[in-house]
This record gives sequence, structure tokens and C-alpha cells, in this order.
Amino acid sequence: MVVCVVCSCRLPPRQLEVNMIEGTPHPAPACRRCRGGKEFFRYWNNCYEFDVDRARQLVQDGRDPVEVEEDSVQASVDECRIDEEHVSHVDPSFPGLIAHIRYQAADGVVYKGHVLIDGHHRAARCLKERRPFAAYLLTEEESLAILLRSPDPPRQETSPGPGTVGLVSSASDGSLVGRGFLVPH
Ligand SMILES: [Zn+2]
Repeated sequence: MVVCVVCSCRLPPRQLEVNMIEGTPHPAPACRRCRGGKEFFRYWNNCYEFDVDRARQLVQDGRDPVEVEEDSVQASVDECRIDEEHVSHVDPSFPGLIAHIRYQAADGVVYKGHVLIDGHHRAARCLKERRPFAAYLLTEEESLAILLRSPDPPRQETSPGPGTVGLVSSASDGSLVGRGFLVPH
């Protein structure tokens, strides 16, 4: 359960982050990204949509966050529209969320990878301050459970191009390759 450290009431996580770092009571500050409400993450031209609130509930089972490689943090931040004002007051120690993502091309080839679905502004702050960024990793089953929309049928004939971040191919040994969002082992 997410509880405000200031007044002990329940809060949307983003507002909680702000309260944790600024020690300010409600209501949320003027930043439009801190006003709460239901959160979704849309990816790859809105072909995928994840329920971030549900994902946050799932990872509150005592699991440990994983430290994310800097290149992957940078790639995730680069593909997102970053609001500098919001970056300035998020709590960089609050872990992000990483989901599994799967894409089946029309030729039958399946691409698997990881994508950061929450924490892009915390990640940006970590990069800026040269500190590690951590995230909770959802299982494949959990990632499916929070997936509200995905390409079905596949939207294109060819495989994703080299500029696509987050969708990475799986090598014959099962390891993830490519320039997607990789989680360190
Ligand atoms: Zn904000």
C-alpha cells in the first residue's frame, strides 16, 4: 500500500514522490504531472498500452528492484517526452517499472524485450545526477495481465527497424540482443 509520509493518507505514487522529497502536504503542487489520476503507459505509436497503476500494485510483494544499465536508462529517457520541471522534484530513489514486451511479425518471427513503463522522469534525474536507477521487473505473466492493448494482428509486414527501442530480438541461446531496454543479469 502506498501511504503519504506527510499525512499518512493514501496517495497516487507521483504525488507521494513529491511529498517525500519536498515534505509538503496536499494538495499536489502546480506541476501537471503530479496531479494524480489513473496512469497508463503507451508505447510504439500507441500500439501497446500498459496499466501502470495495476503494475505498481503487483510489485508490492516484497521483490527487490534491479539496477538498470546506464545505456538502457538513456535509451528509455531518449524515447520519452521529458518535462524538466517534473524531473526537478521527483524522487530518484523511487524505483521504476519494467514490463516484458512481445511482438510477432507477419513472418512469424517473435521479438521479445523489456520496456520501461514507469519512472522515465526519475530515470532522467538519475542520469543527470550520475546515480544508479533501479526498477521493479514484472514477470511475463504480470506484463500480460497489465497489457490493455497490443498489436493484433501484427501491424506491419517487416520486423521492427533498428531505431526501435525496447523491442529486442532473442538470440538462439535465449539471451536478449539488440539495442532495446535490457535488464542486467
Ligand atoms: Zn511534477
